[in-house]
Amino acid sequence: MGEVTEFASKPKKDQPWDVAIIGSGPAGLTAAIYTTRGAASTIILGGEKWGGQLMLTTEVDNYPALPGIQGPELMQKIHEHSTRFGAAFVGKNVDAVDFDPPAGGPFELTAGGTKYLAKSVIIATGADTRWLGVPGEDKLRGRGVSSCAPCDAPFFKEKNVIVIGGGDSAMEEALVLTKYATSVTIVHRRAEFRASAAMQQKVFEKEKQGRIKIIWNSVVTEFIGNEKLEKVKLKNTKTGKVSEIVIDGAFVAIGHVPATDIFKDSNLPAGRQVELDKKGYVVTHNHIKTNIPGIFVAGDVHDYVYKQAITAAGFGCMAAMEALKYLDEIRTPLNKAS
Ligand code: NAP
Repeated sequence: MGEVTEFASKPKKDQPWDVAIIGSGPAGLTAAIYTTRGAASTIILGGEKWGGQLMLTTEVDNYPALPGIQGPELMQKIHEHSTRFGAAFVGKNVDAVDFDPPAGGPFELTAGGTKYLAKSVIIATGADTRWLGVPGEDKLRGRGVSSCAPCDAPFFKEKNVIVIGGGDSAMEEALVLTKYATSVTIVHRRAEFRASAAMQQKVFEKEKQGRIKIIWNSVVTEFIGNEKLEKVKLKNTKTGKVSEIVIDGAFVAIGHVPATDIFKDSNLPAGRQVELDKKGYVVTHNHIKTNIPGIFVAGDVHDYVYKQAITAAGFGCMAAMEALKYLDEIRTPLNKAS
């Protein structure tokens, strides 16, 4: 890379940052590239486990210019790029936000007991694993029930595992597990996968080789075991027939839920907190604005349609450009009379 110029300086003590970014996936980190290049002082509150979902992924084959890159390597590159122009990075979780400060005051964010002030905020908290919510799941999580094959697959060497789901994540988990487990069975609630054609093709090739089995039209209704997972109970969604299979590991890959718990403040009336929809996604106005002026949003925390690393990065860019526009506006308020 060429010479680095730090376009954005840090604020003086007790002064607010121009932009605080919550989250450090492709959306948040891309936003930081743009805000700092726009000379806005920027702090990324990136969380204890920075990097988001790509840190739990293996090969990424659809990020332009970087075919076949591993997810964590891609995130490392974006991370390095994000701080190149002067953004500060804090590896702490945001525990609380105050988006309703006294008139004209900066927004307040608390992370690991420290308060951070900011004139504008970009919410890029992404999404977390969706769990099935069936009996035994909580108890056996980490004891055979997992949501991350790239993290846990080596524990299932020469064991029998199932993967639950029919999207790209489920395909990916199953493919990773074939490198370790004796048998890998995908359990899907319908008779066709939702996953991309490319991922399905890889799975069907493994099925032909006898490395992956598929149980269609079935859902897991219970995880059974004491110290560790021993069996799962299945129900056929067409016939209602219930059966059990003996198993060592189960990987739940049924999508994600937006990470918006910190924005749910029951003490505040609805109009004074960030508006969320019924499923907990941030509601957007005019692309990536929230209902609160100065608070913007980017990535899987609002986007339940595209959910790609590249679209998250694109939303990060959009949110940053809107934040820069907002900062200009509060610096030089428009003369409404003219
Ligand atoms: P997803 O595409 O939303 O798929 C979720 C799957 O879980 C669906 O097959 C769904 O079934 C099933 N499901 C949902 N709730 C269920 C329940 N309660 N019980 C049983 N099954 C349930 O989620 P994802 O696979 O995590 O992918 C999310 C996004 O990331 C997608 O855009 C995907 O393309 C992307 N992604 C890409 C890659 C890659 O390119 N390498 C890897 C991973 C993810 P139905 O089909 O019946 O709805």
